[in-house]
Amino acid sequence: MSIASIALPRILRIGGGASRQLPDVLATLGLSRPLIVTDAFLVGQGRVETLQGSLKAAGIASRVFDGTVPDPTVASIEAGLAFLREGDHDCVVGFGGGSPLDSAKAIAMLARHGGSMADYKAPHVQDEPGLPVIAIPTTAGTGSEATRVTVITDERTDEKMMCPGLAYLPVAALVDYELTFTKPRRLTADTGIDSLTHAIEAYVSKRASPFTDGMALLAMRAIAPNLRRACDDPDDREAREALMLGATQAGIAFTNASVALVHGMSRPIGAHFHVPHGLSNAMLLPTVTAWSAPAALARYAECARAMGVADAREGDQGAVARLLEQLGALNRDLGVPGPAAWGIDAARWQGLIPTMCEQAIASGSPANNPRVPDAAEMAELYARVWDG
Ligand code: NAD
Repeated sequence: MSIASIALPRILRIGGGASRQLPDVLATLGLSRPLIVTDAFLVGQGRVETLQGSLKAAGIASRVFDGTVPDPTVASIEAGLAFLREGDHDCVVGFGGGSPLDSAKAIAMLARHGGSMADYKAPHVQDEPGLPVIAIPTTAGTGSEATRVTVITDERTDEKMMCPGLAYLPVAALVDYELTFTKPRRLTADTGIDSLTHAIEAYVSKRASPFTDGMALLAMRAIAPNLRRACDDPDDREAREALMLGATQAGIAFTNASVALVHGMSRPIGAHFHVPHGLSNAMLLPTVTAWSAPAALARYAECARAMGVADAREGDQGAVARLLEQLGALNRDLGVPGPAAWGIDAARWQGLIPTMCEQAIASGSPANNPRVPDAAEMAELYARVWDG
């Protein structure tokens, strides 16, 4: 019998208004000196002031570091760490999308263990905890609020460093869909496809378990029927709520089962061409799924059924055909461009394919795919997605 090793945040509060429970959650955890790690946009929206106000009302003083950047860099983490050290903090609150959450995790870990982020990239696994992290996601995408990994870009080498370990698992996550109404259409689409990709990849991963299967299927059921709805009507409460819940469930699924080929190939696209994370996943998802499906037909067919695009009576082959149609249609409906239409230089793309293959394989994620490509096959997949 194989044993599934599952790790979860100690506290999850899920639902409209959950973020307002931050003072109560800090009190429960015996914490009282938070540093809030966020980005300048969210501060500009007045969101962080509201959060600080609720802390102040509970007698908790906080400081704010708003210098995180999309796809956090080593330099931005060092700036955050220096800011933390100017104060006296016993925990870090990550408030924002995956970038502020990942920054909060990295800063909290370095605050206790020192060194530079490159020391902590895979295969290193950092289980010994840093400062406690409380995560409050605002994008319904990465699932970072429930994962034991942070992704930091080394700006000198353009490498997206995967840094795994229990140190990065937040002690608490406040999952509040009311924070997501302000997401514009493009961000809603990209982050939604990111979480859908997490769920599909966790389900087909070679490291899936019955526990992660359950979470992954719930996530697909929540995300698939609601993605277009939230893109078309940003105020659709039901859709926003389902997408937020699905993103966290997908995060729980993939962090305990791992992601696979799409994420492996997606990270180098993000690092070299600065394509937003969800968008680079979306560029790859239909093609990589088509290539992988013959190796795990029954599993991909189950994804189609969970997403509601194939009915229970349809055989696996037919269900997988529906899945592939649906992933293509989703990209068309949500306006996902291929790398060419996104404006990437053709010669640079071509020239970097060998490096991207090398980095994707080194990340370990492709090895969890039901069908594992060699470098030549992966190069062919990168070439195939070029013009969408
Ligand atoms: P992000 O955090 O980079 O944010 C993108 C933009 O959206 C920013 O400009 C931000 O200010 C804005 N934004 C955030 N919330 C908003 C809201 N409610 N309304 C309007 N605008 C809002 O985007 P992301 O996709 O959430 O995160 C991507 C990062 O997460 C990447 O660095 C990726 O590598 C990482 N990631 C981490 C994990 C993990 O488990 N640790 C998993 C997947 C991805």
